Amino acid sequence: MWERIELVRGDITGQDTDAIVNAANHTLLGGGGVDGAIHKTAGPELIEECRTLGGCPTGEARITKGYHLRAKYVIHTVGPIWRGGGGGESRLLQSCYENSMRLVAEYGCRSVAFPSISTGSYGYPIKEAAPVAIGSVAHVLGVCPDIELVRFVLYSNEDYLLYRDLFEKMKKQTAPKRA
Ligand code: ADP
Repeated sequence: MWERIELVRGDITGQDTDAIVNAANHTLLGGGGVDGAIHKTAGPELIEECRTLGGCPTGEARITKGYHLRAKYVIHTVGPIWRGGGGGESRLLQSCYENSMRLVAEYGCRSVAFPSISTGSYGYPIKEAAPVAIGSVAHVLGVCPDIELVRFVLYSNEDYLLYRDLFEKMKKQTAPKRA
């Protein structure tokens, strides 16, 4: 499944994947960071649809249309706020990726782009978040052959390089050993 994972440095709002994932807050009524950028590009229709959803608990995901985005759908997921790691943050972050991927499969999307959930204003250290992100997605890809592409979109070069190094390491660790 590693060949179906792509890493790019860039902006999530311009992605041409069937779905993009939004790092939302539990109200689903807009915020800063990725969320602000997605709403700005999608247009006011997105917040109108989000208003009908009644929020979303941490670790879960909801889907809406993409409106003026290139992506057909936006999957809104609510990452955990980092409180030092002892509050079940990694399990919740894993749920974000898994529940988002479940919606990708359910809605017949072939491709999806993820930002780095929780590592901005929610303070989750990216070094700890990246293995959860890549590991969860790789696991779901292993059981969902119809999903052709998962693209991680990293906003800074530093985040991109960290993801890339980790991705190479994880890929090597799971490669079949040659006799
Ligand atoms: P959270 O509240 O879940 O921490 P943020 O939006 O504050 O979400 O940040 C999550 C990550 O997304 C950060 O690494 C931030 O640099 C990055 N980011 C911010 N804007 C964009 C964008 N337009 N496209 C992709 N990533 C972005």
